[in-house]
Amino acid sequence: MTFEYAPAPESRAIVDIKPSYGLFIDGEFVDGHGKSFKSISPSTEEVLAEVAEANDADVDVAVKAARRAYTRVWSKMSGAERGKYLFRIARIIQERAREFAVLESIDNGKPIKETRDVDIPLVAAHFFYYAGWADKLAYALPGNGNNGADPQPLGVAGQVIPWNFPLLMLAWKIAPALACGNTVVLKPAETTPLTALLFAEVCQQADLPAGVVNILTGAGETGRAIVAHPGVDKVAFTGSTDVGRAIAKSVAGTDKRVTLELGGKAANIVFDDAPLDQAIEGIVNGIFFNQGHVCCAGSRLLVQESVADEVIATLKRRMKTLRVGDPLDKNTDIGAINSAEQLAKIRELSDIGEAEGAGRWSPACDLPQTGFWFPPTIFTGVSQAHRIAREEIFGPVLSILTFRTPKEAVEKANNTPFGLSAGIWTDKGSRILWMASQLRAGVVWSNTFNRFDPASPFGGYKESGYGREGGRHGLEAYLR
Ligand code: NAP
Ligand code: MG
Repeated sequence: MTFEYAPAPESRAIVDIKPSYGLFIDGEFVDGHGKSFKSISPSTEEVLAEVAEANDADVDVAVKAARRAYTRVWSKMSGAERGKYLFRIARIIQERAREFAVLESIDNGKPIKETRDVDIPLVAAHFFYYAGWADKLAYALPGNGNNGADPQPLGVAGQVIPWNFPLLMLAWKIAPALACGNTVVLKPAETTPLTALLFAEVCQQADLPAGVVNILTGAGETGRAIVAHPGVDKVAFTGSTDVGRAIAKSVAGTDKRVTLELGGKAANIVFDDAPLDQAIEGIVNGIFFNQGHVCCAGSRLLVQESVADEVIATLKRRMKTLRVGDPLDKNTDIGAINSAEQLAKIRELSDIGEAEGAGRWSPACDLPQTGFWFPPTIFTGVSQAHRIAREEIFGPVLSILTFRTPKEAVEKANNTPFGLSAGIWTDKGSRILWMASQLRAGVVWSNTFNRFDPASPFGGYKESGYGREGGRHGLEAYLR
């Protein structure tokens, strides 16, 4: 049975998108000296705003502002004082949560249900969490500084983030950096700059000292200039493995610290004794949450052969109930693909999956005429050699493989250049622990998937990068 739903659109009236935006440097919005670019809404292709591009000279001014703020103000301030600013930012984000949620949905294309219930609450939680650490660094890593002194900040952090969780990735970067006494120059992704610019307004509202946070909009070239600037002490990057590799090369031989959070191709492993209804929800959440634009997405389903037919049949039934469409509709499960470029990549890899002989299936769904859309899709009969089993698709596309024994599940799960996350669905605690000890992945979820908590570290093995964000571990990346 399918249900009819009346439209339930969230109002856009709460957001005030300006026709154009400058760069946020030294506490002020200023003109950029590069060519400006446009941010569009991926669900309608409507131009939302003209955004400044930072060129090398702008990057230089921002890094110098961050250095001044670091030396004169932020690194001198007590941890308790820094914590007050972070608590203030967290509270303002909570107060303006609906505004942030609507703006993120419009600029990114993700459903309001997710921005409202996941992204923005997690952003606030991250600032609250690291605010609490600001005056306790000596307890977090006692005597870890030079000559047994308490740990010290690194200086200026250059941070570059992707478009899939724009404000959340900003929070993962800025909250620990500031808590530890560093100042930052951050570049949001070209397709999703608007919530970072609203965050800049929050910094002003919180009276954060000028230069502690600088937001430079632009594309890859701006990111490259930030990473390469000699005044940057620490580089934090989240994005693709290719760009991560280029960044690692560019900082090699300098004394810059680097953390890289890169791609993934996670195995979501379902055993025959798993609670199957819950596992189905976990599979759906694992790959269709955020249109599958998730680095730790459960994009490879490994299902035990004895229950494979049942799992696939139930999954198909469940997928028929997924609602694809207007991101601002409160009933929408799957929103728009973030860009035409990403849509082309998803289409290409899916076509390759079909050409290589895997069985493609999507439920019937009406996709809107304008905007970028892709239906939730599964591939059955996938072998480990197929490109859709090896490469990150970064869209709502699941590759299904089967296994017979736990050992075979481990081998298949680990047979990937990535190692960001994994999921295990089984009734047996001992099996969960054994599997978790065998899987080469930074995060292993059991009987759940895509759970995030600021207190829990996150990061990769192998080509998924190095360094941890979140938790006490996340402080280490920002302390000497
Ligand atoms: P991307 O192309 O690597 O871009 C990431 C960021 O780097 C963007 O801001 C981008 O700018 C910028 N950039 C591009 N070229 C650069 C260069 N040469 N030097 C410095 N910065 C540069 O990745 P994406 O396509 O946006 O994001 C998807 C990827 O991110 C996926 O592979 C996903 O798995 C990964 N990801 C990983 C995590 C994690 O925590 N491990 C989380 C989320 C996403 P523009 O895009 O503005 O041009
Ligand atoms: Mg956009």
